[in-house]
Amino acid sequence: MVDLVFDAPAVKKKSPVHLADLTVAERKVRAEELGLPSFRANQLAVHFFTHHNDDVESFTDIPKELRTSLADAFLPKLLTLVKSVTCDGGKTRKDLWRLHDGVLVESVLMRYTDRTTICISSQAGCGMGCPFCATGQAGLTRNLTAGEITAQVMMAAKACDLGELPGGPTRLSNVVFMGMGEPMANYKAVMQSIRNITNPQPDGLGIGARSVTLSTVGLVTGIEKLIKEDLPVTLAISLHTPDDELRDTLVPVNSRWKVKEVLQAADRYEAKTGRRYSIEYALIRDINDQVWRADLLGRLLKNKNAHVNLIPLNPTPGSKWTASRHEDEAAFVEILEGYGVPVTVRDTRGREIDGACGQLAASQIDNNS
Ligand code: SAH
Ligand code: SF4
Repeated sequence: MVDLVFDAPAVKKKSPVHLADLTVAERKVRAEELGLPSFRANQLAVHFFTHHNDDVESFTDIPKELRTSLADAFLPKLLTLVKSVTCDGGKTRKDLWRLHDGVLVESVLMRYTDRTTICISSQAGCGMGCPFCATGQAGLTRNLTAGEITAQVMMAAKACDLGELPGGPTRLSNVVFMGMGEPMANYKAVMQSIRNITNPQPDGLGIGARSVTLSTVGLVTGIEKLIKEDLPVTLAISLHTPDDELRDTLVPVNSRWKVKEVLQAADRYEAKTGRRYSIEYALIRDINDQVWRADLLGRLLKNKNAHVNLIPLNPTPGSKWTASRHEDEAAFVEILEGYGVPVTVRDTRGREIDGACGQLAASQIDNNS
């Protein structure tokens, strides 16, 4: 039995407060507390959210003598790049970041022909213990703050502006919470970061809520809370198998919320928002890729506003599991399609760079220990 960790361990040293940790109203109050007019907070927001710039020394509209105190109060450096690795001819780039307390997290930037997506982390590690996932194996170190989550997106937007990925400058169009961590287990900070991502500039980065995907292992209480928010993000449910018996081992949180309860919660989300949800399904050879499981999944999702995303398993180091055979994957797709369920097989971007979430951070931690 795996111990699930819902409450993050207490932080050793609090992360510095950042503009992105605060609501628009709180930003103004903080400026006034520093004896500064509230429009200064707005000026900083324009630099950070509209121009993707956090280098206060370059802010010529801010008097020199105010720059250091404003930087300390609103724009502390939250992310330091440890290393970047690229593949797919440079169109996929994985960045490993060090946080103020030495903790490591990663994000992956992927350029496609029609969009550019950043895959971000919401926690350092994860307490959900899924046995096929590198992040799950490492356990939960701590929650990220809204500032630390938002900064990953801002840095990606900046990289896009600067044309750091082949193809020239572009706009960051999509954000997926599919890096390290379970976003629903860090609900408050994740919601604040989604507001930062989706609020129109200059209060936020101005990326449409529909272009933001929140992937959850199925914390039903979190989905219920999300239903009450006015944030029509795309919901992805990591199901991985349609039967409780296997899901209890593949996704240990299934001991709390069963397949049926998770799918009912996703349906309620769909009813409230009208948004089609995704079912994430990592195909693992001879474990969850049998015809009968495809059939059961098809029956569960038939006539629902859901889409299945099959992900060939990216084996973690030392894992006894591997991706499904090509013919089993093809049969799985065909069965789901037979039920009228839309299905795609996720491309395997970033495989060569430890693309599965948590693998780069895990390998770095191994190297250092
Ligand atoms: N904790 C959340 C979001 C982060 S994981 C969740 O589980 O949904 C993002 C996605 O990557 C999930 O669908 C997860 O199941 C999948 N994943 C994790 N490890 C993987 C691996 N080794 N191979 C393929 N997909 C993996
Ligand atoms: Fe956590 Fe998601 Fe990995 Fe499971 S798959 S351990 S929930 S990051």
